[in-house]
Amino acid sequence: MASISNLIQVKSEAVDFIDIEAKIVDLCKSNPKGIVDSDVKAALHDVSTQQYVKAINRLLSTGQIELLKSGTKLLYKYKDSQAASKTKGFEAEEKLIYQVIESSDNKGIWIRDIRFKCNLPMTQVNKVLKNLESKKLIKSVTSVGAGKKKVYMLYNMVPDTSVTGGAWYSDQDFEAEFVDILNQQCHKFLLQKLQQAQEMKIDPLLQRNRSYASSHEVWKYISDLGISKVSLTIKDIETILSTLLYDGMAEMIIVSDSSMDNIESGVIQKKLYRAVKPLLPVTGLMRIPCGVCPVVKNCYPGGLVSPQTCVYIKEWLD
Ligand code: SF4
Repeated sequence: MASISNLIQVKSEAVDFIDIEAKIVDLCKSNPKGIVDSDVKAALHDVSTQQYVKAINRLLSTGQIELLKSGTKLLYKYKDSQAASKTKGFEAEEKLIYQVIESSDNKGIWIRDIRFKCNLPMTQVNKVLKNLESKKLIKSVTSVGAGKKKVYMLYNMVPDTSVTGGAWYSDQDFEAEFVDILNQQCHKFLLQKLQQAQEMKIDPLLQRNRSYASSHEVWKYISDLGISKVSLTIKDIETILSTLLYDGMAEMIIVSDSSMDNIESGVIQKKLYRAVKPLLPVTGLMRIPCGVCPVVKNCYPGGLVSPQTCVYIKEWLD
């Protein structure tokens, strides 16, 4: 009888132990930047020090968590086994460069920044990058930003729109013609809406309200036209509509939106647009491409991006 009760006790201790480890792992997972020892202890106040130390040591030795130093504090951090297996067998430099690239997420990182963060010679960085590229672990993407520089990101990442330029860029080139067509079509839709409202024999205030179109309506009209090869989002259409606002060809109001869809998605406002006749004709200066240029901050005479070499400013001057 005594041996059976001993067996039950050992089994229950083992279950407790697994529970403690699972709790520590959960705490580390919910604190991806790491959690200090005192916080873990506080969360497991009913666990004895002996059990606690045993569980921490086991998690560290099995590589489920890692111990990091941040200033004077020691942190426990969850170690993603999938990520760890990706870098298994890597040289120290390869691992470091891979981790720096991984932390840049889908925005990517420039080779000079990799070098700066890793503090390694450029030739070595180049060699490691080539190696990781050949293993299809990372890829290089040419950014539409300053100087169209190459940035590195993990192979399976979909680059951020700040890198690709979004719907308005194709092969890193700004699709000015496409943007122009969209601009004209959006304006045409707003004009149609205005005309339809003006033809209604209703009170002028109601007539004005009926002349507004939501960005969703404009988006639907553009999508139905099928003029875009890339799928455009409502945000993209709002960007085009904002160019109409800047050109004084449309006005916008923001109203609260009580539709169920929007309440569920947390959006409680919607933008309504209406075509207006500009008070003044649009002058050439107002159409200068620099006003909507995404790289205006990096543009200066003699720079990588400069007014002297800019094709858009040349077209505008012509
Ligand atoms: S000149 Fe104007 S349009 Fe051209 S790159 Fe510079 S800011 Fe952009």
